[in-house]
Parts: sequence; C-alpha cells; structure tokens
Amino acid sequence: MGRTGLEVTRCAFGALPLQRISAGESVGILRAAYDGGVNFFDTARAYYDSEDKIGVAFEGYRDKVIIATKAQGLTAEDYEKQLAESLARLRTDYIDIYQFHLAKKCHSPGEPDGLYDAALRAKAAGKIRHIGLTAHRLDVAIEAAKSGLYDTVQFPVSYLSSDRDLGLISVCRENNVGLIAMKALSGGLITDVRIAWLFMRRHDNVVPIWGIQKLSELEEFLAYEKNPPVWSDELREKMSRDRLELSGNFCRGCGYCLPCPAGIEINWIARMPQVLRRMKAEVFMTQEWREKMKTVENCVHCEACKARCPYELDTPKLVADALIDYMEFSKEWQATRYDL
Ligand code: SF4
Ligand code: SF4
Repeated sequence: MGRTGLEVTRCAFGALPLQRISAGESVGILRAAYDGGVNFFDTARAYYDSEDKIGVAFEGYRDKVIIATKAQGLTAEDYEKQLAESLARLRTDYIDIYQFHLAKKCHSPGEPDGLYDAALRAKAAGKIRHIGLTAHRLDVAIEAAKSGLYDTVQFPVSYLSSDRDLGLISVCRENNVGLIAMKALSGGLITDVRIAWLFMRRHDNVVPIWGIQKLSELEEFLAYEKNPPVWSDELREKMSRDRLELSGNFCRGCGYCLPCPAGIEINWIARMPQVLRRMKAEVFMTQEWREKMKTVENCVHCEACKARCPYELDTPKLVADALIDYMEFSKEWQATRYDL
C-alpha cells in the first residue's frame, strides 16, 4: 500500500454494507473473509455499527489484520472524539490507516480547523499509523496524492471511470501513495463482477475494497482469487457496451448532493433509469418506491444539489428525467407482468 509498508491483500473488504445486516451475520462474513485470506478491512465512524462488528470479529487477531477507518468532523475536537470512539468500537489501541472522510479539501498542517494537526498528534501518540484521505472530487484527491501529506488516497475507481479520473492511478504511483478504490462496482451498476475484478488487476497499485454484505458475494471474490477469470471477447465487448451506456453524466450515488429540502433521495432517484435496467426491477416497483419517486414533484429548484455534486451533474434535471422514465418503465413493466 504505497509508502505505508503495509502488505495488504488485493482482495480487500469494504465494510459499509455491514450496517444493513445483523451483528451475527457480519461477524460470520468478516471471519470467513479472514479465513479466506483477506487481511484489509475498510470502515468508517459514519457507517453506523460497522466498526463494532469488526471489533468483535477480530478481537484477539488485531495484529493479523489491517484496519482503515474514517472521521468526518469539522474541528480537531470532532476528529479526536471520533477517533476515541472508533478505537473503542474497534476494540483496539491503534488504527492502521485513519482517513479524512469525504474530504472537500486537502487538509494541511497549520490550518485554522486544526484537523491535520490533530492527525499528526494522533500519529505521534501511536493511535494511528498512517494518514489517509477519501474524496469524490478529483482535484482534492490529486492534490492530496501530490502533497506528501497523505500515505493513502481513497477515490471511486471502476471501469466506468472517466480517463481523467483514472489519471489519479498514475499520480498515486508516481508519488508512492496507496490508492484505495471505492465503488469498484459503481454503486451496483456494474453487474458482471468478473470484468470489475479483471479491470482492477490491470493496476498493481490499486486496492479495491469490495462492498460485501452476503456470504455468497464474498465467496465470489474469494473464488476469483483462487481461479482468476480471464479476459475473453465476450467480457471485453460487455465492458465496452457498459462504458458506452453508463459513462459520463450518470449519478454515482455518492450522496454529496444531499440533503434536499424537498426530501428527495437524489442519490437513488437520479440513477433510477440505470438501476431499473441493471438490477432487479421488481424491487423498485413497489408503492414505497413509487412514493419516493413522486417526491421529485416537490422539487423547489433551489439548485443546492447541483452546486454540491462533485461530478457537476445537472441534478434537478436528472431527477426530473428519472421520474418520467420511471413512470413509463413501470407502465411497461405492469403490462408485461399482467400481460395487458
Ligand atoms: S447527483 Fe451527484 S452528488 Fe448526488 S448522488 Fe449523484 S453523483 Fe453524487
Ligand atoms: S433543486 Fe430540487 S432536488 Fe435539488 S436540492 Fe433543491 S429541491 Fe432538492
């Protein structure tokens, strides 16, 4: 992992989805991952009880696993408070990689918020071993990678990423910074895991943290580690088709645009056209989802979401188009279902 000296497995575990399943299931999956050879686990203070589950799973094995977590505060006090909580929940006295979560800027020493200085103090006290940063904005990620202040950078990387975004891979390599890839399946839009896996293996300095919430998902990743898939014409064509269909102006589901004063779940609604065609459509054909989609009609066009979207998407238009598409799709879906 870049200059850290940490030897992480190339199949790493993204623990965000653990907040959606029980403690028992989570601990079972985490231990199965460890038994299957995974040694790197990434979580965040913001992922509800995901840290607690990691803490329970690896109590007594702390020196065998590498743990990354994240803090999201605005002040040094927030940072220190969250670090203390993370240490307690993870049942450990150190964190291997402690990251500034969803950083909007490249934090540096001597700034008025004192955040980077708090990280230096935590490192000097042995509470954290390496300082990292996670970002959705490319300019922030590049600045951090070049700054010499960060050992790791975490950024969305997938085969749907633009060439501009993928340029971060070489910037990290040149600066010996570990690149932790989030959203390697692009928030569920990539459905053929083999292609995502193969794409990641093209880059020897990129460590994907696969978001895992089911044993079957873990087993698929572990199976590829043992018997790697191979590129075929079929997989290459599928990747090109996906890129054509999904690259560019699509919502990545990061949620940076929230909150919305009209209560619109933009991070789901804006990508509904792709979700309907790439995931199980029936899940989204319920009354509950219909009502959620209808909240788009309450948009007050404040444009706050647009200003916050790191991908510079025209968010109000995306949600409005998504509602039209949803209504048409559901009409067709009902017709097929009831053979009207
Ligand atoms: S609209 Fe932009 S900020 Fe909002 S979820 Fe999508 S990509 Fe993220
Ligand atoms: S423009 Fe509409 S969707 Fe965006 S934040 Fe404002 S009310 Fe919500």
